[in-house]
Amino acid sequence: MRFLPVFLDLQTGPVLLIGAGDLARAKLRLLTASGARIRWYSTDGDHDLGGLAASDAARIERADGDPLTADLSGVVAVLCAGAGAIGPSMSARAKSVGLPVNVMDDLEHSTFIFPAIVDRGDVVVAIGTGGASPVVARRVREAIEMALPARIGDLASFIGRWRKSINSRIVEFPLRRRFWERVVDGAIGALVLAGRGEEAETALTNISDPAAFAGAPQSGVVAGRVTLVGAGPGDPDLLTIKALRALQDADIVFYDELVAPEILDRARRDASRVAVGRRVGQPGMGQEAINQLLIEAARSGQRAVRLKGGDPFVFGRGGEEIEALRQAGVAYSVVPGITAGIGAAAQFEVPLSFRHEALRITFLTAHKASDAATVDWSALTDTKMTVVVYMGMSAAPAVLSGLLAAGRSPRTPVGVFARVTRPDARAAVGTLDQLPALVENVDGGPAILIIGDVVAHSAPWRQSQLAQLVSYLQVAAE
Ligand code: SAH
Repeated sequence: MRFLPVFLDLQTGPVLLIGAGDLARAKLRLLTASGARIRWYSTDGDHDLGGLAASDAARIERADGDPLTADLSGVVAVLCAGAGAIGPSMSARAKSVGLPVNVMDDLEHSTFIFPAIVDRGDVVVAIGTGGASPVVARRVREAIEMALPARIGDLASFIGRWRKSINSRIVEFPLRRRFWERVVDGAIGALVLAGRGEEAETALTNISDPAAFAGAPQSGVVAGRVTLVGAGPGDPDLLTIKALRALQDADIVFYDELVAPEILDRARRDASRVAVGRRVGQPGMGQEAINQLLIEAARSGQRAVRLKGGDPFVFGRGGEEIEALRQAGVAYSVVPGITAGIGAAAQFEVPLSFRHEALRITFLTAHKASDAATVDWSALTDTKMTVVVYMGMSAAPAVLSGLLAAGRSPRTPVGVFARVTRPDARAAVGTLDQLPALVENVDGGPAILIIGDVVAHSAPWRQSQLAQLVSYLQVAAE
């Protein structure tokens, strides 16, 4: 991010516009729509406003003379649109007195740029691409236009009108926020969005005890809660809508090392972020200490999110955490996530089940060779079973010998799928006897092992078959 979006108050002083023609007139329209006063230096002497409403035209002062020597005191910003060669000189002058300046289509001489805008009254969305691609900005804008209710601006101004009076009646900030959430997400918000503003006013006026409406218990202290959220294997687009909402509502997020930074970025900006993960080979924080942190956060009235890679209940110790929360009497809920094995299957096209071929699926963990030693491999010899192994990289030799000893064929197709759904995802496929070598091939974890005939349907397998065929044909042709 090179340009930080900020909202500029243009009511405080004139904006200097230098330029002519349709480009300048387009800027006049934009500026007058935001209530700005404008001092316009037309570079070709033509001050035609192109049919602007009289009320808007009244705020435009048509200036003569050389803008390069114009008085800049009180000016809020300088714009050049259709200004030709004056642009860069004007930019230098504005910069010398510390004024923000935009020269249209000239990033080098601009200290700010205009975003694409979604304008719904009090709700304004600015979309920037750092000046790189207006087409991309337009597509993003279309997506946002579609997602936003038409009257979202009315909702914001409705709340704006009530804000002061409610804030004076609810002192505690978390309770106040909850009050507004209930208004926005509940019946009153729905009335505003449906264009029934008067009914919404009445409904809000009729709330005699705003704190009770916000859900405050007798004591007046807000109860916090913990949400265990599955973050999925890496791609932020694989978050569920519920997960996103929990992240947006969170006061504090406890995350572990498997959670991609792009996912943490989706949390509410003001939320505190606490890393509680264990890195492989490093002790990190004990489970007991993590449980304690969650309990304390909720008891202090915070909405805590425990963010975990994949799914919280698949080798994620979510079960232990909710047990501790339950014993402590803390409210909690669980939002599922896409577990790494399912992410790998989708990305690399491994159908975990397949008609007549794979009728059972086993998820198991083999954290260490010692874990692997405790696995009953004889239960996994069914050739119609797909075996998905978590934390199995270092235990790969033990997985191999366990399965072979139990009688699985060394020719069973296997895949090692690393960093799945992330930009640097890698797959290595082969046969069971090659498993330890395949693990070496993916350049580091985390990785999932999938063992079973279905791996022969996977995309990397089909590609490797194709590659073999091509080299065979080449050899044959020589
Ligand atoms: N709760 C998690 C699993 C945690 S155990 C889930 O449901 O996915 C950690 C193991 O998960 C890793 O050792 C690895 O086997 C697997 N894993 C997690 N993220 C992964 C990813 N992006 N790609 C491949 N394997 C992953």
